Amino acid sequence: MARVRNFSAGPSALPINVLKKAAEQMVDYPGAGMSVMEMSHRSKSFGEIIEAAEANLRTLMNIPDDYTVLFLQGGASSQFAMVPLNLLKKGEKADYVNTGRWSTMAIKEAQKLRDAEVIASSEDKNYTYIPKLDPSLFSADAKYLHFTENNTIYGTTYYDVPETDKLIVTDMSSSILSREVDVSKYDVIYAGAQKNMGPSGVTVVIMRTDLIGNAEEDVPTMFNYKTHADKGSMFNTPPTWGIYVAGLVFEELLSWGGLKEVEKINRAKAAMLYDYIDASELFEGTVVKENRSITNIPFVLPTDELNAQFIKEAGAKGIANIKGHRTVGGMRASIYNGVSTEDVEFLVDFMKQFESENK
Ligand SMILES: *Cc1c(COP(=O)(O)O)cnc(C)c1O
Repeated sequence: MARVRNFSAGPSALPINVLKKAAEQMVDYPGAGMSVMEMSHRSKSFGEIIEAAEANLRTLMNIPDDYTVLFLQGGASSQFAMVPLNLLKKGEKADYVNTGRWSTMAIKEAQKLRDAEVIASSEDKNYTYIPKLDPSLFSADAKYLHFTENNTIYGTTYYDVPETDKLIVTDMSSSILSREVDVSKYDVIYAGAQKNMGPSGVTVVIMRTDLIGNAEEDVPTMFNYKTHADKGSMFNTPPTWGIYVAGLVFEELLSWGGLKEVEKINRAKAAMLYDYIDASELFEGTVVKENRSITNIPFVLPTDELNAQFIKEAGAKGIANIKGHRTVGGMRASIYNGVSTEDVEFLVDFMKQFESENK
């Protein structure tokens, strides 16, 4: 079977060159005589792989020297607990913004462990917009503000960071590496790799080094950032394969010209799709215009029957994983870095054809 055009929200499409390189090196990583999956994480080869991955990520995102990069396991979901456990002592408090399912999960977890207040929410309109983060909303005694930068399910994005003396913590799982960001405006960034960075199994944390080492004594060893920071993400066996493939993604994006160029491509892809949706008399976007994500684009047809028909016919054309999340319905095109401009053109052409046949 030929490769489909994969609009999955995650795990999602990877750049084809990355897959080819991983395949080429699968049974014999150069100089190692074995696969990356089979080698010790203490080996010279793997040492070079993780060092290069970190160096290339630092270059790509222009990460300042006083930030630590960690390659962890447990998904972005584990960060929902690690963040409050490491940034808050017992009795301390943080502010959270609820912009969808993932923020809700982060809030629930933080509230189990420490004091977390929801200072803004877009639940009233099924998360089709994001509330403005005006500092007047923030609690005087909150140590940090947590928000989900890009809401994978609802297709909304915060493009700006509020000016505040609070620490800024953000879940960047579905937007990291899709555009340029100024890392110095954030204090902790975390992201599961499987949306836009690599395969599942590795979670990247980028954080101000001086925030590490302040956890309470009873925080479990594996949930303390210091454990991992002290050992260069090798306290225990790290997710070696995930780190290797993410490293190939970093190299690939550098070869595209870095995030400035990557952002241009992604903005053009999103504009192509949204321009058509806005002009269409049949398809409709579900998100408020100024809050639209460039990585996840939800859209609907007038009836459930038409949505189902579209998904079925798209599937027959090799357009895969286009069905929307059940809480939004309709369709969602996740157009991460691994989805090419040509893939998006193909989707838009198909939507045009569908519209002409179903007017
Ligand atoms: C997918 C996703 C998560 C959950 O990630 P896991 O790595 O599966 O734990 C969290 N936040 C956002 C924004 C996501 O898109």
